[in-house]
Amino acid sequence: MSFFEYRNGEMHAEGVTLAAISAQVGTPFYCYSAGALRAAWREFADGIKGMNASVCYAMKANSNLAVIRLFGEMGAGADIVSVGEMRRALAAGIPAERIIYSGVGKKASELMEALQAKVGQINVESSAELETLNAVAGQLGVRANITIRVNPDVDAGTHAKITTGRKENKFGIDIDLAREAFALAGRLPHLKVVGVAMHIGSQLTSLDPYRAAIVRVRELIGQLRADGHRIDRFDIGGGLGIVYADEKPPSIADFMAVVARETEGLGCELTFEPGRRLVGEAGVLVSEVILVKPGAAKTFVIVDAAMNDLIRPTLYEAWHDILPVRQPRQDAATIRCDIVGPICESGDFLAQNRDLPPLAAGDLVMIRSAGAYGAVMASSYNSRPLVPEVMVDGTRFAVIRPRPTIDEMLLAERFPPWMEPVKA
Ligand SMILES: *Cc1c(COP(=O)(O)O)cnc(C)c1O
Repeated sequence: MSFFEYRNGEMHAEGVTLAAISAQVGTPFYCYSAGALRAAWREFADGIKGMNASVCYAMKANSNLAVIRLFGEMGAGADIVSVGEMRRALAAGIPAERIIYSGVGKKASELMEALQAKVGQINVESSAELETLNAVAGQLGVRANITIRVNPDVDAGTHAKITTGRKENKFGIDIDLAREAFALAGRLPHLKVVGVAMHIGSQLTSLDPYRAAIVRVRELIGQLRADGHRIDRFDIGGGLGIVYADEKPPSIADFMAVVARETEGLGCELTFEPGRRLVGEAGVLVSEVILVKPGAAKTFVIVDAAMNDLIRPTLYEAWHDILPVRQPRQDAATIRCDIVGPICESGDFLAQNRDLPPLAAGDLVMIRSAGAYGAVMASSYNSRPLVPEVMVDGTRFAVIRPRPTIDEMLLAERFPPWMEPVKA
């Protein structure tokens, strides 16, 4: 079942028309389907049945409190990359022991806060971090549960900006240097090594890189055990891809089958950290056409969503499907157009060279697969208010992050005391 589909000529999110939400909330806005979020979660929950495994939602993909809470209620842990995300996870009701703290550059103050909150596991990415964490844990008189994230040097076959498992990427410890790092960790009294972690990239559409990486880490685990380390956990990371255009990402069942086969007999508890796969297809961005500008080369459809609301096309050359909210006639002619925002940058586009049915000012369009790395990467560039978020659940919908007013935006700023006040 699709959670976003035309019914009676109108695009629906579950039981609500996007037009009805737009009438109440205004545009642009993100809209998430609770049903789609739950369905994505269930695939993982079903996938790990019978395995000694847990799933921690990588909340940087979409860190709205309501989204985190929805997953938390179904048993999810959280994979966090900052103390801000930790505070969100806790505020959304995720128990601290189900939180994994990842990230390549954690500050001592952040590690301190995480240990004080008693997060379950910290994935360390460098020898320097091992030393810092040991010192901080010592100050607090605790022992930190850690894994070491290794970089298995495999090509995830994804966009350069979201591949993370190559030697030349900043992430993890080079797998060839991992034994030294584990040896160091073993000598540090306030660290308790519980396992090894990896995360090789994002938007993977093939299982081969996972297979290759697991084979390499599995071999490492053998060596580490021979060196005398206890390796009880293997954190596989996230990275599973979704459908933007015509990708064919593997099913969760196939993914789990590969992981189960490649880790068989290893005796490790497995952790999965999906982000995009849980939220990406469950969200859309809805925007209104401001005006249509026919040009010599092509037509520009200028909409009220822009690169500050959804930066993926600009940043990753990402392709997002765009559909009119009112269903076009089957035989409607199409015109070639660029869908662009009002921002003063040529990089401000949502789609280029798209054949779409003719659009007119006031029409609504839906940008698909925008639930991951959409709202979380939004900014207020050009003094555009942060784009609001809406959750639909059946026939209900609610604003889960309101659009700030311009006044609220201005009130967040200050004149320095030496400046004359603005005269009324
Ligand atoms: C970003 C990230 C994830 C999630 O990646 P997705 O591609 O969204 O699944 C998981 N683990 C770590 C360490 C990450 O940095």
